[in-house]
Amino acid sequence: MTESSLIGFSKGSTTDATFNATNPATGEASDLSFCHVSGEDVVKACELASDASLAMASLSGAQKASFLRDLADRIDGLIDQLVVVMTGETGLPEPRVRGETGRTTFQLRTFADLVESGNWVDARIDRAQPDRQPLPKPDLRSMLRPVGPVVVFCASNFPLAFSVAGGDSASAWAAGCPVIVKAHHAHPGTALLVGNAVVDSVRASGLPEGAFSLIFGDGRTVGQSLVNHPAIKAVGFTGSRAGGRALFDLASQRDEPIPVYAEMSSINPIFILPGLGEERMNEIAGGLQGSATLGVGQFCTNPGIVFYPRGPGGESLVADYVGKMKETASSPMLHKGIRKAYGEGLDSLSECEGVEVLVPASNESGEGGCHAGACVLSTDSESFLRNERMVEEVFGPSTLLVSYENPADLLRIADSLEGQLTVSLFGEEKELSHSAELLDVLETKAGRLLFNQFPTGVEVCASVVHGGPYPATTDGRSTSVGTGAILRFARPVCYQGFPDELLPVELKDGNPMKISRSEA
Ligand code: NAP
Repeated sequence: MTESSLIGFSKGSTTDATFNATNPATGEASDLSFCHVSGEDVVKACELASDASLAMASLSGAQKASFLRDLADRIDGLIDQLVVVMTGETGLPEPRVRGETGRTTFQLRTFADLVESGNWVDARIDRAQPDRQPLPKPDLRSMLRPVGPVVVFCASNFPLAFSVAGGDSASAWAAGCPVIVKAHHAHPGTALLVGNAVVDSVRASGLPEGAFSLIFGDGRTVGQSLVNHPAIKAVGFTGSRAGGRALFDLASQRDEPIPVYAEMSSINPIFILPGLGEERMNEIAGGLQGSATLGVGQFCTNPGIVFYPRGPGGESLVADYVGKMKETASSPMLHKGIRKAYGEGLDSLSECEGVEVLVPASNESGEGGCHAGACVLSTDSESFLRNERMVEEVFGPSTLLVSYENPADLLRIADSLEGQLTVSLFGEEKELSHSAELLDVLETKAGRLLFNQFPTGVEVCASVVHGGPYPATTDGRSTSVGTGAILRFARPVCYQGFPDELLPVELKDGNPMKISRSEA
C-alpha cells in the first residue's frame, strides 16, 4: 500500500519515488510505502498556508484552545495504534510510546490553557497625554501577533513530542500560525497517524484548510524548497548541527530572511566540584549511567562529558561508572544514520591524543544494523583543552570522563566550552557558593543550569528553558520546550492612536479579557 502527503484537506499526488520505514531492531521494512511529495504539492501546501494566515491570526484564544484540546483528545484516542506503528518504526519500547503520547497531549493542552487565558500576548499600554509639554504623547498599545506560516521539521528522537503535533507545531498553532510539517524519513507511519488526526481536528474545529499540511520527502530537496518559499515566515527544527545550520544559512539568504529556530547539538557537561566523598561519587555514578543511557543516549540533554576532581573520590567515580556501563545492554538506535554517526563520533574521540577507552562500545550492530552499546572514555583537562574535537556532540550512550587538578582548571574548561542546552554542577552547597566565577562563566554558556540534578528530563512548564547559545540552538534567546516556545512564532505590533472599538480585545480599555497588562 502507498500513502502520500497531506496537502490541506486533500491527499498529495502519488509519485514514482517512494520509501518505507525500517524497524531498527529487526531490519524489517514496513508494508506501507510513502511517496515523495511532488514539487507542485509543495507549492500548493505553501499557498494554502498563506491563504489561511489571516483567518488563523484572527482566531480567538478560545477557538485556538478548542482546536488544541480536540487534537489532544484525538491523539490520546490513537494510543493503541501508535504503540504498534511507532514501536515498529523506531524500536522504542511501548512504555516510551505511551509516555511520549502523554507528553505530546499535555503540551497541546498546556498551550490551550495559555492562549485561552490570553496572558501570553505581552500587552503594553501607554495612554495618551494630550497635555504633555513640549509635545503631547499619543496613545500607544502593543501586543504579540502571529508571524505567519511556519515550517516544522520532525525530530528523529521524538517521533511524537517533537514531530507532527509536537512542541514546535503546538506553539505555532497557539500563536495563530498555519503549520507545514516535514515528516522525518524514519517514522512516516507515526507521522501519518497523527497527521490524519490533525486534519480531522482542523475540519471539526472550523479552522481554515491551510492550517496544516504534512509533507513526505527529502530534507535537502523538499525541506529546502519549503524553507525557500516566500509564504513561509519561520522554521522550527530539531536534529543535527549540519542540518540546522544548512537551513539557517538558507533562510538568511532568502530575499526576505526568516528566523530558523534550530535545536541542534549539545554535550551537556557535568561539573563535579571538589570535596565529595566516595559514597556521594558512587551515587553520582549511578545517576549518570541512567541519564547517559536513557533512550540509548538519544536525548538532546544526554550528559556526554563529565569533569571530576582527581583523587580517591574521582577514582571511585570512574571505577563505579565503568562497572555500571559494562553491564548496560546494547539496544537499537533510531535509524542507521544515527548509528553510523555514533560509531564515527566514538572513533574520532578515541583517536584524540590523551584519550583512553575504558569501556569500548560493542561492535555488534544487531539484525537491523542499529544496535549500539555504551561507551566510556577518559582523559585529563590538559589534553581536553588542547583538542577542540572533544567538545563535539557524540549522539548516543557514551561519556567522556575528564579529570581536573584544581578549580582554576574548571574555569579554563568552562571558558573553552561551546553553547549548551544544559550545564550541571554537583557538589556541596558551600562549594557552590565558592564557585561564583565559574557560575558566571557557565551562565553565558547554557540555557539551563542544574545543581545536583541530571539534565535528561525536561519539564514542560512556564519557566523551563530548552535552548542555549550556538551551537545548542541557532537562537539562544528562545526555548523550544514550555510555554515560552510560543514567543518564537509571534512578533510585537504597536497600535498608535487607535479608537477603542478597533483595538484587539487584549488592548481595549477596561481590559475585558482580564489579562495581565503593563499599563502606564
Ligand atoms: P538530521 O539528519 O539533521 O535530520 C533532521 C531533519 O532535517 C530530517 O527531516 C532531514 O531530512 C532534514 N535535514 C537534514 N539535513 C538537511 C539539510 N541539509 N537541508 C534540509 N533538510 C535537512 O537529524 P537526525 O536524522 O535526527 O539525526 C542525525 C544526527 O543528528 C544524529 O546522529 C545526531 O548527531 C543529531 N541529532 C541531534 C539531536 C539533538 O537534539 N542534539 C537530536 C536528533 C539528532 P531527511 O528526512 O531527508 O533526512
